[in-house]
Parts: sequence; C-alpha cells; structure tokens
Amino acid sequence: TFTTEDLQRMFAGIAEDIAAERDQLCELDGAIGDGDHGLAMDAGCQAAAKAVGELDAEIAPTAAFNVAAKAFLNAVGASSGPLYATAFMRAGAAAKDKQVLSDDDFLRVFAAMGQGIQERGKAEPGEKTMVDAWKPAADAALDAWQSGKPLPQCFEAAERAARAGCEATSNMTAAKGRASRLGDRVIGHTDPGAASAVIIIAAMAKFAQ
Ligand code: ADP
Ligand code: MG
Ligand code: MG
Repeated sequence: TFTTEDLQRMFAGIAEDIAAERDQLCELDGAIGDGDHGLAMDAGCQAAAKAVGELDAEIAPTAAFNVAAKAFLNAVGASSGPLYATAFMRAGAAAKDKQVLSDDDFLRVFAAMGQGIQERGKAEPGEKTMVDAWKPAADAALDAWQSGKPLPQCFEAAERAARAGCEATSNMTAAKGRASRLGDRVIGHTDPGAASAVIIIAAMAKFAQ
C-alpha cells in the first residue's frame, strides 16, 4: 500500500535520480533541442519533491499529486512543464481521494501518468518524444498486472519497455517539439524527454519493489 508519506519518499527519489543525470540530459537536448532539458527536469522534480515533502502526512495522495503538479509547472519554463504537470494531475485523479492506495490503485496511477502526457502533448509513439518511453511502459505495466503479476514485476516490465522505447528514439525523426524542425539531422540522437522518462519510471520501479 502507498500513503502520502510513501509518495514523499518517491518524489525525493525521483528528484535525486534526475539531479544525478542533469548534465547528461542537457547534453542530449543540446544535440537536438535547446539544451535545457536537464535543468528543466531538475528544477521541476526538486520543486515537486520539496512541495510534497512539506505536506502534512494526513493529506491524501490525490492532493499530494496535485501539489506536485502545481510545483512542477511553476518551476519549469519548458515543454516538459505542462506535460509532467498533466501527468501528476492525472495521477491525482487516479488516486481517487483515497487515503491509502492499493497496489491496483498505484498501478493505475502510473498508467494515468503516461496517458496524461500523451493526451497533453498529442504525440503518438514513433514521433521521438517522451511518449516513446511512457506509452510502452504504461502498456507493459497494465498487461503484466492483468496477467496476474505482482506489482514489482509489473514495474520491472514497465522499466524494460521504457528503456527499449527510449533506445528506439535514436533512429527516429521527430514529429513533435523543437527537434521536429531539424529533419534527418536528429537521427542517431536519443530523445532527451524519453531519457528523462526512463529515469522517472526506473525511480518509480525501485520505489514499487
Ligand atoms: P523545450 O523543448 O521547450 O526546451 P524540454 O527541453 O524540457 O522542452 O523538453 C523537450 C522534450 O519534450 C523532448 O525531448 C520531447 O521528449 C518532449 N516533447 C516535446 N514536445 C512534446 C509533445 N508534444 N508531446 C510529448 N512530448 C513532447
Ligand atoms: Mg529543451
Ligand atoms: Mg527550452
């Protein structure tokens, strides 16, 4: 089960793992974008972790996710801001104002994040965005859950799918975002948003163990 106290640890873990890869993410974005992706994700995740960390433990997970969304959005002046703000808002809705989340709830929270990102950015897999990591990860988690796997295994499947999806972005041209203006020049470069998605999904998988 998952409470707001658990989510405080989860957001702190995400922020720590993103901070460790901040420069690497900026480098990826420097190759096919404007070079700020690591700074944007670091600022957003630190702000979300701080805001959630300051909450009273009696606050429900739904409200905690909403606080994370607002903090992330306010801290980030890049495309990733509204995309992750939507992910956290959808996570909050999927948490249904319950005080304690079951494994089933948490799995649905995760899947809702991926769906929120996809709907907000209107990107499909194959367009060289973070959706190339999020969509297969959410699908893999739901599939594993439906075939009766325990939560840690569902998240392991999600992490594997995210990594494969991220790697596949290297061979793609971009149909969304800044990189879409560069045509074939982006081939051979991993999408930075897919790379940060892998870090977040892996942090959530660690947390679900
Ligand atoms: P910006 O391009 O505004 O500087 P970031 O550098 O924070 O924003 O994020 C860039 C990443 O955002 C891209 O690598 C891509 O994964 C993601 N992205 C851009 N547009 C979209 C979209 N419409 N849907 C989903 N993801 C997107
Ligand atoms: Mg950028
Ligand atoms: Mg930017």
